[in-house]
Amino acid sequence: MDDVIVIGGSFAGLAAALQLGRTRRKVVVLDTGLPRNRYAAHAHGLFGHDNRSPGEILDLARAQLALYPNVRTLKARAVRASGSIDNFVVVTEGGEALPARRLLLSYGRTDHFPDVPGFAECWGKSVVSCPYCHGYEVAGKHWGLLYHSPVSVHVPPLYNHWTDRITLFTDGHDLPRDERQTLEQRGVVVVDGPIASLAHTSGELAAVVMADGRSVAIDTLFAHPRSTPSSNLHEALGVTMAASSVGEVIKTDENHQTSLPGVYAAGDVANPMSSLTVATHAGAMAAIQAQQSLIV
Ligand SMILES: Cc1cc2nc3c(=O)[nH]c(=O)nc-3n(C[C@H](O)[C@H](O)[C@H](O)COP(=O)(O)OP(=O)(O)OC[C@H]3O[C@@H](n4cnc5c(N)ncnc54)[C@H](O)[C@@H]3O)c2cc1C
Repeated sequence: MDDVIVIGGSFAGLAAALQLGRTRRKVVVLDTGLPRNRYAAHAHGLFGHDNRSPGEILDLARAQLALYPNVRTLKARAVRASGSIDNFVVVTEGGEALPARRLLLSYGRTDHFPDVPGFAECWGKSVVSCPYCHGYEVAGKHWGLLYHSPVSVHVPPLYNHWTDRITLFTDGHDLPRDERQTLEQRGVVVVDGPIASLAHTSGELAAVVMADGRSVAIDTLFAHPRSTPSSNLHEALGVTMAASSVGEVIKTDENHQTSLPGVYAAGDVANPMSSLTVATHAGAMAAIQAQQSLIV
């Protein structure tokens, strides 16, 4: 029996596996190879890896992990998980049943793109969600912000650290008059009406095309598509979920422990703050907690 099965072998999962490997625990990492930031050519803000491609960072991590004979990495989808502390079983899509004493859930989130032609093609290139990740490269340019919730009207002051050319697309939502005035006083242009499509060349945005035919040229669009956990294994395990600004996340305590003893969670699936630094930190810390819980 393995000590820990890590489900999702990307930033959080591989950081976890590294810590577990170094404590000489027997570990299996299951991964389907679809990290959330795979659409972006470069990842930013991760100490020591700034401006590298996500795939390059993960390849490096996998190569370093391969030196630990007690860590196995399998390209496989986990489709079922059951059991209780010291006696879990994870079943892969290929039908293999893997027993383990602890589980670490790090299968991330999946973004669901709006039904706007051009959105998917631009995602990760010129349509992005995080100014900390992608703002520096487009500082001073014309940014669009796609309304997604009442929080959207409070975002432009943050964006002003990078640019003073901001257009908010309400996409058919009503803005309260006082908030509209505050935005306009800050120099934010508000464009009303539903969006029809994004005009682009190979994912590089040219303009937002409105349903009424207007075309608004911008350089980068900040958007926050709906996202959900990339697997529903937490439902089968019955762990408690928590509401967050990005939808439901797996609820964990300060030790990254879920409501089910022996099951830990880390990364985007458990934290609304989507960041490589946060995910790798959480993966490493969850692994240390899982490892310490195995000491008799
Ligand atoms: C377009 C884009 C660009 C970004 N750029 C940056 C950036 O520059 N800097 C930054 O700090 N953050 C960035 N982020 C955020 C960052 O990508 C995430 O915070 C990070 O990937 C979360 O890591 P994770 O390990 O939790 O999840 P993920 O990286 O999403 O990995 C989850 C892994 O689990 C696997 N998986 C899913 N289901 C199963 C299953 N059932 N069985 C086995 N494996 C499974 C997936 O294939 C995937 O490999 C970006 C996000 C996006 C969307």
